[in-house]
Amino acid sequence: MRKKYYNMVEEMKGKIRVFCRIRPVNRSEAAQGGVVVVDKLDDHSVMVDTPRGPREFQFDKVFSAESSQEDLFQDTNRLIQLVIDGYNVCIFAYGQTGSGKTFTMVGDKDQKNPGIMPRAFNAIFDVMQENSSRFTFKVSAYMLELYNDRLQDLLISQAGEAHAQTQPHSPARRVEIKRNRKGVVFAQGAETKEASSAQELFALFQQACNSRHISATKMNVESSRSHLIIGIMVQSKNLTNGSVSTGKLSLVDLAGSERAAKTGAKDHQLKEANSINKSLSALGDVISALSAELPHVPYRNSKLTQVMQDSLGGNAKTLMIVNVSPSECNLDETLTSLIYATRVKAITNNAQRNVESKEIAQLKEVIMRLKSGQTVEEVDV
Ligand code: ADP
Ligand code: MG
Repeated sequence: MRKKYYNMVEEMKGKIRVFCRIRPVNRSEAAQGGVVVVDKLDDHSVMVDTPRGPREFQFDKVFSAESSQEDLFQDTNRLIQLVIDGYNVCIFAYGQTGSGKTFTMVGDKDQKNPGIMPRAFNAIFDVMQENSSRFTFKVSAYMLELYNDRLQDLLISQAGEAHAQTQPHSPARRVEIKRNRKGVVFAQGAETKEASSAQELFALFQQACNSRHISATKMNVESSRSHLIIGIMVQSKNLTNGSVSTGKLSLVDLAGSERAAKTGAKDHQLKEANSINKSLSALGDVISALSAELPHVPYRNSKLTQVMQDSLGGNAKTLMIVNVSPSECNLDETLTSLIYATRVKAITNNAQRNVESKEIAQLKEVIMRLKSGQTVEEVDV
C-alpha cells in the first residue's frame, strides 16, 4: 500500500513512470541450463541474484513472465484518455536485443498476441466513440524508422520515393525533427496520414511494418537494429464551447541496448552497432543530465534524442517499459538496463494540455486556408 501511494504521488509530481517486464525463459536459455536470476518480488519490486548477493530494484509496476499482453495494457489504457484530453504521451520500450521490446510494443508476428501499438489504436477509437456526443475528432499519424542516424519515412512507398528522386524539380523529401512554440516535437516533411477507424490506423501500421521490412532486407539487417517511431495526433473539438485540443501519442520500439559490438562484426555491422550505440548512449547522456538536473541537456547529439525531446524532461506524460531476460547468461545486460531504468524514474516532466479557445482555433483555420491559396470571408472573433 505504501509503495502504491508513493508511486501515485510521484506520478502526480510529473515523474516519468517506469514499468519492468520480465520475459519467459526462451529455448536457447533453457538449453544452457535455464538458471533464472531475476524474480518479481511484488507488484513494485524486482530481485536480481548477482554473484555479489541479491539486489532489489523498485519500479512503478513489475510484470512477471506470466503476465499477458492484456495485463500490461490495462495499466497503459489510462494514458490513451490523456491523449484524447490534449496531452502528449510517450510510451517506449528499452532493453537488450531479445528481451521482449518488440513483443511488448508490437506483439508477435502473426498478431495472436498484439502488443501496445495495435491495442492503443483500438483504445483511441473506443475512447473517441464514448465521447462522440460531446466532441468531434480527427486522427492522423506519421511512422518513421531511425536507422544509422537517418530518418526513413515508412508511410512513403519505396517506389514513390524512387520516382520522386528521379524528377528534376522535386527535391528529395527529408524528414526533419522540429519543435513548436510549446516544445512539442513534430516530424517536418514526414507523410502524415489521416485515419477514420482503428482498422485504417492498423492498415497504415502494417504498411509501415512492411516498408520497414523491405528496407531491412535491402540493407541486410534485422529490425532489431533500428528504432521504430510512431506519432499519432488526436485533435478533439469540443462541441459545446468550440475549444480544440491536440494530443499526441508517441510509441517507440528502440533498437537493442547491448553495449559493445559483438566480435566478428563486419564493417557495415560495426557501423550499425556504432550508430545504435551512439544514439542510445546519447539517450543515456540525456537521461543522466535530466536526472542530475543539470542546466544543459544534450538533446542535439542524436536524432533519437531530438525525436524524444518532449518525452524526456519535456511536455509529455511518459511511460518507459524496461524489458529484461530472466536468465543468468544475460545478467550483466539486465543489471545495466535496470540501473538505467532507475535513473529514468528520477526524471520529472511538465505535462500540460494543448488546448486552444474556439477563437484561436478559428483564426488558425483561416490562416491555413489563406496559406493554401483559398479565399476566405472575413471573420469576427
Ligand atoms: P527485442 O525486440 O527486445 O529484441 P523481441 O520482442 O523480438 O525482443 O523478443 C524476442 C523473442 O522472445 C520473440 O520471439 C518474442 O516473441 C519472444 N518474447 C518476448 N517477450 C515475450 C513474452 N513476454 N512472452 C512470450 N514471448 C516473448
Ligand atoms: Mg525488437
